[in-house]
Formats: sequence, structure tokens, C-alpha cells
Amino acid sequence: METISQNNLVEFLNNFTKIKNTCDHTKFKGWNNWNPSFEPSLVKVGQINQEVTIQNPDEYWGDNVLIKLNEYPYAQCEIHQCPACQELFFFYNEYGGHGRQKRYRLIQKALIDIESIVPTQNCQIILNSYHYAIYKKPDLTFELSICKPIATGVDVCHIMTNKEVQSFKKEGIAALEDRIKDMDKNYSNYRVKSWR
Ligand SMILES: [Zn+2]
Repeated sequence: METISQNNLVEFLNNFTKIKNTCDHTKFKGWNNWNPSFEPSLVKVGQINQEVTIQNPDEYWGDNVLIKLNEYPYAQCEIHQCPACQELFFFYNEYGGHGRQKRYRLIQKALIDIESIVPTQNCQIILNSYHYAIYKKPDLTFELSICKPIATGVDVCHIMTNKEVQSFKKEGIAALEDRIKDMDKNYSNYRVKSWR
């Protein structure tokens, strides 16, 4: 299996299918310590390798706390997979006054803050083959592209504005409907890449 990093974590989750009726990992929706009732033989499948820009995050505990890959501990977490259900977990060693604790958190795509990803190569955020795609680039911009069947086929590309990124985070691709229509109609105003 391919190694997972911040470059392809979202892409992996976009294509992920959980094997149903296997495990119950709900206790690990937020950070939780390893304990004897949680002993699946998790397999390391990847590693986030980003700079830690925030050492003491405002929020740490809780099932719905956002996953920010530029913050401790996510920025340097290992990624482990449950062989039974295929779910992914963040893993790191917590060293407090209590000695080592192995901490895990289930990776939930909806909670990943895409603005916190610092990729080292183009990183897929969303892909609907032959329709549209959004990639985050190493310069931290988000590029929206649509396919257009003219000539031998072209991609029409647009670097999203901050406002578009915010709307997309809240509402998904529907927030970009007007932009996509404009890219389709007025494609000569945009950067166009031939498939050939
Ligand atoms: Zn499992």
C-alpha cells in the first residue's frame, strides 16, 4: 500500500470505503489512550510531516474538534490503519508526568481543516473525474479546474479566492456553482491546459 502523508490523506479518504459490521471505534472520535479494550493490531501506513506552527492548540479534547495538520500533535502524527474495518487513525506518543501514553484518534474527513494542510506536491481535495477537481498546491493556493470537451479536451483552471475557499469549506462544491458556470462559458478568460 502507498504511504499516506499530508499530500494524499484527503485523496485516500475520498476513495475510502469502510468495511462495515466489524469494529466500533466511536470511543476514538476524539483523542483517547490505548487501553486493553482497544487492541486491534493497527498497522502503520503513513506519517504526517509538517512544521508545527501551533504548539498549544486551543482545543484538543472532544469528538468534534477540527483536525489541523499544522498544529500539535497532528503535524507529526503517524497514520495507522485497522486491518479489520480499514479505518485510519492518527497516532502519537504523549509524554506527560505520567510516562508514555499511546494516543489514537480516528481520522474523520469532515473534520480536516483543508487550510491547515501544507503539501509538498499538488494535493487532491476533491475530484469528480471528467467534471471538476480542486487541488491544493505547495504555494498553499487552491486550484479549481473543470474539464471541457473542446478540441482534444482541455482543463480550464482558476486559483480560488479566499472567499471561495471559505464558502467551499462551508458548503462544498455547490458554493462554486457560479464560478464553474463562468469558467465553462468564458473559458478564454482563464488559464486553459490542453490534455494533449
Ligand atoms: Zn476497526
